[in-house]
Amino acid sequence: MRLDKYLSNAGVGSRNDVKRFIRKKHVAVNGKVVTDPKSSVSTEDTVEMEGETIQLEQYIYFMLNKPSGVISSTEEGATSTVIDLIDHPQKEELFPVGRLDKDTTGLLLISNDGKLAHTLLSPKKKQPKTYIATLSEVPEEKDLELLREGIPLKDFTSAPAQAHRLSEKVVELTITEGKFHQVKRMFGYLGNEVIALERSSFAVLEMDKTLEPGEYRRLKENEIALLR
Ligand code: URA
Repeated sequence: MRLDKYLSNAGVGSRNDVKRFIRKKHVAVNGKVVTDPKSSVSTEDTVEMEGETIQLEQYIYFMLNKPSGVISSTEEGATSTVIDLIDHPQKEELFPVGRLDKDTTGLLLISNDGKLAHTLLSPKKKQPKTYIATLSEVPEEKDLELLREGIPLKDFTSAPAQAHRLSEKVVELTITEGKFHQVKRMFGYLGNEVIALERSSFAVLEMDKTLEPGEYRRLKENEIALLR
């Protein structure tokens, strides 16, 4: 990243302020004074301003209450994604850990920690994900039993899940896989339609109920430690 961007992202001052500091020889990279604001630095470099080391945040973790109508894919071509809901100077490093459908709401982890994301999303880790599904029809007890045993879908049979009825047409379902449209497809097999889907938990994280849709907060130290 450009040196001026690095410094303004680290909160040293506006882009114009930091350009001035750099040109006035107040900034050193790896012990050498640098006067070109466009010179390139990475998180591996030691950047100092007037002798004080300036660091970017290495790892960033946010819990987002994803609103309906926003996509979580950050693949090229998407005009607006969940990342646009986040205000952070290192925003361009952030990505959603996993995906939720456009109309799904609830817990989505946003981070720049690729290693943790890889671990959390690895099918081998079988991380639990809990969804609250509001259905078009009242599911029968035998349907809930089938969800618990495993549902034969086109490409795979779902692993045994936990299913609890919360009210007539609302089921809490915990699955350990994360296949495309999995929850909707599981209920679809039972002849039921998911009309609203909310994720209430992901791995060790529980949705913070104080977050309104579109709001987010930093993970607490203990939450980060538990995730790792
Ligand atoms: N299952 C679905 O069908 N959709 C989601 O967004 C997540 C799980």
